[in-house]
Amino acid sequence: MHFETRAIHAGQEPDPVYGAVMTPIYQTTNFAFKELGQPGPFEYTRSANPTRSALESCLASLEGGTRGFAFATGMAGIATVLNLLNAGDHIIVHADLYGGTYRLLSSVIAEKGVSVEFSNLRDLDTFRQAIRPNTKMIWTETPTNPLLHLLDLAAIAEIAQEKKILTVCDNTFATPCFQQPLSLGIDIALHSTTKYINGHSDVVGGAIVVKDAVVGKRIGFLQNSMGTAQAPFDSFLVLRGLKTLALRMQAHNQNALALAEWLSEHPKVDKVFHPGLKDHPQHDLALRQMTGFGGTFSFRPKGGKEVAARVLSSVRIFTLAESLGGVESLIGQPWTMSHGSMPADVKLASGITEDLIRLSVGIEHVDDLREDLREALG
Ligand SMILES: *Cc1c(COP(=O)(O)O)cnc(C)c1O
Repeated sequence: MHFETRAIHAGQEPDPVYGAVMTPIYQTTNFAFKELGQPGPFEYTRSANPTRSALESCLASLEGGTRGFAFATGMAGIATVLNLLNAGDHIIVHADLYGGTYRLLSSVIAEKGVSVEFSNLRDLDTFRQAIRPNTKMIWTETPTNPLLHLLDLAAIAEIAQEKKILTVCDNTFATPCFQQPLSLGIDIALHSTTKYINGHSDVVGGAIVVKDAVVGKRIGFLQNSMGTAQAPFDSFLVLRGLKTLALRMQAHNQNALALAEWLSEHPKVDKVFHPGLKDHPQHDLALRQMTGFGGTFSFRPKGGKEVAARVLSSVRIFTLAESLGGVESLIGQPWTMSHGSMPADVKLASGITEDLIRLSVGIEHVDDLREDLREALG
């Protein structure tokens, strides 16, 4: 079945008791045993819950994996995957990554005896040289936040597979609608479902999808042991959000590309970072690896941080707020907001400057969004 159909039906049968067409919210901590020693398919909601299981099956189907897992937040999912590592292991992380993941790796995981190495995985030779005998995991994120750099997932997966190293891709920006890391050879696809997957800025959540049964079993064990799973009500909301993922992503993609093209011609704009533009250094890779570019991109106005601050504070439809991926348009300054927890030298080294503006383009009418930016740029 096609993606759009699976987004609506995978993992979801009418409820066996009353025939409810929409998966009910099983707002219960526990499930009655049939008899002593004979539990039903569900026992205790931390371990499994029918609402969450429906969401997890749907996520697995959309990413093309064998098992899906839903988490309380994106970071809960990330922390669960990182618990596959033990003291003495080495992880190679693409240096340009989500601020919260950077913080967890550098201030928590690295303190536990895991050796964390940030590297530039866009350069495959650098990547090859970073691999050590104790390298257990490669961490990728593509497109990256906020500069929309891409990583060649198939090439990275091939190098890692030769050495039997587990590969992870944070697929939050593209969603399985536009990019399917598992089909490119990556072992674990990961999401902050807070963003496009839920899409309505009313839930925080995370997801993991895996291909391999052994890895899946371990993630399931960790999810239950660490208690990082998503609550039934939140699972219900994310499952509802998924139903319109394909339509929303098309709208985000069209609006963002139209604005990026317009901004790149604007006399007061210095540079636009969007993989759909022909001047993006990895435009060809984007066409090869993705079927759409997503709804988030960034740009730098001419005139430095004062001009950027003026744009950020004078928009009226775009809301100045953290996060991305909702139906409503947001604007932000990565320097102080999404990447505020990253040291200044690390930000500058990855090209994040104080005058950089990030847009999460929503699904409003594109003419209204363009007008808003036109007025703000003055
Ligand atoms: C938001 C985000 C996360 C963290 O997810 P939360 O749901 O906020 O915990 C991880 N990776 C990326 C790319 C994100 O945008």
